[in-house]
Amino acid sequence: MQLSKAAELCYEITNSYLQIHQESQIISSTQEAIRLTRKYLLSEIFVRWSPLNGDISFSYNGGKDCQVLLLLYLSCLWEYFFIKAQNSQFDFEFQSFPMQRLPTVFIDQEETFPTLENFVLETSERYCLSLYESQRQSETAINMADAFREFIKIYPETAAIVIGIRHTDPYGETLQPIQRTDSNWPDFMRLQPLLHWDLTNIWSFLLYSNEPICGLYGEGFTSVGGVNNSLPNPYLKKDLSDIPLLFEWEIAHAFGKNAAGEHDPIVNTSPISVVDKERFSEYQDDYYPGWYLIDDTIERAGRIKN
Ligand code: FAD
Ligand code: MG
Ligand code: MG
Repeated sequence: MQLSKAAELCYEITNSYLQIHQESQIISSTQEAIRLTRKYLLSEIFVRWSPLNGDISFSYNGGKDCQVLLLLYLSCLWEYFFIKAQNSQFDFEFQSFPMQRLPTVFIDQEETFPTLENFVLETSERYCLSLYESQRQSETAINMADAFREFIKIYPETAAIVIGIRHTDPYGETLQPIQRTDSNWPDFMRLQPLLHWDLTNIWSFLLYSNEPICGLYGEGFTSVGGVNNSLPNPYLKKDLSDIPLLFEWEIAHAFGKNAAGEHDPIVNTSPISVVDKERFSEYQDDYYPGWYLIDDTIERAGRIKN
């Protein structure tokens, strides 16, 4: 797929979600969340930094949050281009999308799941990312700030980096949608237009999008770090109690599915790698998929503190 096509697809997904008429508190609050993120991107961010010339990079690790933000970012990128092209003196059909790949940065911090690594590579192709991947130096986790210092040395034109962080993340409470990095970080602007999203918003939009999502979520993970510190979420153990699925409608009516009039309950998860399959076969318990967990305060309950 070309970047322009990927961006147009994301635009159609987003528009389709915004047009849903359902008596669902989750869907209407997610529509509100999308509108605010779009306002940040189109009216506050893209007017200060052009999204089409390398000023902005996108921090991406294949997780659900940055994937949601990537879909919205690409959607706004399409709209930004479309409006510019329409206002131009030339006919729209003669305007070509000025960017082939979206500048993206992935910090390979620690030994992670091959399923996640494959997903990052597959989605890099799907969304036409030009992925800068920092090299893992040793077995010990590298420092994020140092990794970004290295990135900025190589891409000094970077003025701002988009981050899929939310207020409910550790130390996320007081963050702002647009802010400079802290003094112990390399100097650039942090763009954080997803801060106000909660887990139900994330799952509602992502499941509706019908885009492939990282297969680990299908195995009961809700937060993914390294192989040595991430397990399925213990609150999703199947023998505990019946957990209701709150996103049945989104899954059944997901984007592109309803064309055939069939409402199938399958979620589009990426394949689990052979190595991870073996790893997971050693787990004692069965788990509900990650999207059964909607309480932000226990999103990281599967993470082991070092
Ligand atoms: P997650 O949900 O895992 O990540 C939140 C978001 O961070 C992701 O959606 C993604 O956009 C980005 N991200 C996380 N891990 C990676 C990775 N391995 N590679 C690429 N992107 C990733 N902290 C400070 O205290 N001061 C700062 O000035 C500061 N500046 C930052 C600038 C950037 C560009 C980034 C990516 C992080 C920065 N941080 C800073 C750290 C940030 O606040 C989070 O602690 C960090 O992103 C880890 O998030 P998490 O694992 O808690 O949550
Ligand atoms: Mg997250
Ligand atoms: Mg993380």
